[in-house]
Parts: sequence; structure tokens; C-alpha cells
Amino acid sequence: MLITHDTECSLSVLVELLNTSPDACGSEQLPDVAALSAFVVRRDISEVDSLSPADLAAVHRLRSQLREVFSVGSTEEAAELVNAVVAAAGTTPRLTNHDQHDWHIHYFAPHAALGDHLAAELGMALAFIVMAGERERLRRCEAPDCARVFVDLSRNRSRRYCDSRTCGNRLHVAAYRARQRSAEAVPAG
Ligand SMILES: [Zn+2]
Ligand SMILES: [Zn+2]
Repeated sequence: MLITHDTECSLSVLVELLNTSPDACGSEQLPDVAALSAFVVRRDISEVDSLSPADLAAVHRLRSQLREVFSVGSTEEAAELVNAVVAAAGTTPRLTNHDQHDWHIHYFAPHAALGDHLAAELGMALAFIVMAGERERLRRCEAPDCARVFVDLSRNRSRRYCDSRTCGNRLHVAAYRARQRSAEAVPAG
């Protein structure tokens, strides 16, 4: 799969962001600017100036737009959504090696507002997934009571559940049973 480490990191931020939505987990996990600031710190998002309620509203809007990419039926629709998000963000790709990181590309414009920053970075990560022909890895959790999203980076694309505590346990139980079965299938001696 032609997905770089940087893209994987962005996809991880994307999934965490989308799963803060009430659509995903039933309650708003980014209810105020303080929660948004904590998210920025936790995910080590660089070049973010002070945040305002306008930033929070922009991130909420972006979150719904990006979530749609996980539910569209065709690559054309996904491409259209991704293009719209990235175009609105006004990206200016540039090489940087800030904070002892290796050289990598920032897609957001210098000191862009957080909504535009995330739209550029997360939109481009989705663009790379589509370009690699891997759109089917963008999944919604199959647990009946869960609407979280995840990106299935497993080799055989077999992941069905998100990694929330409840669904993650289901996943581990299923993997444990599968291992038991294959262990039993190996003849002793
Ligand atoms: Zn960076
Ligand atoms: Zn789940």
C-alpha cells in the first residue's frame, strides 16, 4: 500500500476527530474551545494560534464534511468531497523539518485557522488513500450500537470494528477465538 507514515499519522488524527462527533458516539466530545485546545495539544498539531468559538464552529463543520467521505458509495463522490474540502482550505504545500521531525510536507497555509489547517492536512490524507486505490479501507464500525469510523490498515483488510473500548474488546475476542481455532488445527508433535 502506497501510504506514507505522515499520511497514517494524519489519518489517525482524522479518525479521532470524526469520532468526537455526536453522530459517532452519541455525545459531543468537543463541546467548547477548551476541549478543542486539548485535542490540539494531545495530537501535537503544530502552528496553531489561539483558538476562538469561530474555530470550534469551523472544526465541527469540517468534521461533518469529512465524515461523509466514509459513507459515500463511489470513488467519484469521495473525490468530489475531498476536492471541495481541500480547495476551500487554500493549501500551500511546503517542506519543513520543524521540532526535530524529518523533512515532511505541510499542506496547510502558514498560520492558517485551525479549520483550514485540518481541512488541508486531513483532506490530503484522504486524497492519498483514494489515489492509492484504498478507499475501501475507510470504514464504519460494524457493531450494531456504534457509528464510529476507522481506517483499516490491516494487511488483509479484515477489520470490522473500531477501537473504542467496547468494540475493541469484541475485536480482541474474535481474534483470540481465531487464534484458538488455528492452534487447534495444527497437528500436535
Ligand atoms: Zn509537521
Ligand atoms: Zn465501534
